[in-house]
Amino acid sequence: MNGVAFFLGVNFVVAVCFSAVFAVVATRSRSRRAALWLAAGFGVASLSAVCELLVAYTDTPKIWAIGAFATVLIGMMLLRIGIGHLYGRRLDKRIAAFFVSASIILCYVIYDMPRGTLIQAVSYQSPFAIVLLDSAFVILASRGRQMIDRFLGMLTLFTGLHFFAKAGLAVLVGAGSAAKDYIHTNYALISQSATAILVVAVGLTLLAALVLEIMADQRSESERDTLSAIANRRGFNRQVQSILSAASHGKHAVILCDLDHFKRINDTYGHHVGDMVIQSFGQLMNDSAPKRAALGRIGGEEFAIFLPDTDISAAALFAQALRAATMTLPDLPDGLIVTASFGVSPVTSAARLAEAYRQADQALYAAKNAGRNQVKLTGLDEAEASEQHGESRL
Ligand code: GH3
Ligand code: MG
Ligand code: MG
Repeated sequence: MNGVAFFLGVNFVVAVCFSAVFAVVATRSRSRRAALWLAAGFGVASLSAVCELLVAYTDTPKIWAIGAFATVLIGMMLLRIGIGHLYGRRLDKRIAAFFVSASIILCYVIYDMPRGTLIQAVSYQSPFAIVLLDSAFVILASRGRQMIDRFLGMLTLFTGLHFFAKAGLAVLVGAGSAAKDYIHTNYALISQSATAILVVAVGLTLLAALVLEIMADQRSESERDTLSAIANRRGFNRQVQSILSAASHGKHAVILCDLDHFKRINDTYGHHVGDMVIQSFGQLMNDSAPKRAALGRIGGEEFAIFLPDTDISAAALFAQALRAATMTLPDLPDGLIVTASFGVSPVTSAARLAEAYRQADQALYAAKNAGRNQVKLTGLDEAEASEQHGESRL
């Protein structure tokens, strides 16, 4: 077996493996359609290796040479469609079909031209370059890009440009005097090995982008409470950490909140009504909290709110508003009025977060002891406390 045939075999196996892996990833990914397009792209492109071998070892090289060209180009176009799904820029399928058809006709026309001329080589390689450069543009121009996306964009850009280099190389070292000779040229060896490396690099990076997306989804799922539709304790803690890592010193505030006599609600109206209250209260928190606040259900009927860049009097006002709104939660059985108690504490630094929680908890405890359905503050010095809006203090 010659070296090129070996690389063609490698390319075939690699592309088929990627196709299978993307098909599997599609079963788990929220970008299911994108993954299926990518699977189809690698699947179709894998056929080009088979066509190249048939060019060399059958008596009908022309049809297989055009087949090799067409399968690579269609495969790339399918990847472009998948990338469009992934990065929010869909490709008009009619334009794609027209471009592919025109390129295949061009390939047919230049087939009998002398090989190794600049016009022949550039005409042959340009369609591949165009599709990949367009894919690179879609990735690099997309919003909310992460490191992996930028890397994929640059890699796709480089892969697109390498087709022009291939054209130059074909002119310089020659791609064989006829299609049948291609497989025996040094050019074919370099070309196929470069393609093998780039196919693996692009495939792995695309895969990494999809897998990272799945991991991020699973993490956010594991940090969410399904009943209240806000973060659970783990998610809340992570959000607070990320707020504090951006602004570790500042005037922040934390509010701890516990629904009053919740056991009684369960006992009187049933567990499902208790669940409805938690759901409704989560919705109320979501609707009324500032966008930058971190919200969490940190226990059965216990909730926490972290308000960045908020002084304690503003936090107390917010807690009061939430307390009042809790009494009018919608869609509950007649006669059920839910109340909640709140403890508010300032957070002056990331180092003092645990202390702030402890103080907010004490304030909440005091609100319970004082008869429930109230807001208590803590951690104020005398001067600040005198400016408060009538909330009692520990
Ligand atoms: P307090 O005013 O002192 O907070 O009294 P409470 O009854 O609210 O507090 P307690 O801690 O005695 O009871 C809390 C109850 O919340 C007990 C538990 O069964 C109930 N609970 C916890 N999680 C859920 C839930 O997800 N759904 C429902 N329906 N009930 C829950
Ligand atoms: Mg309670
Ligand atoms: Mg409780």
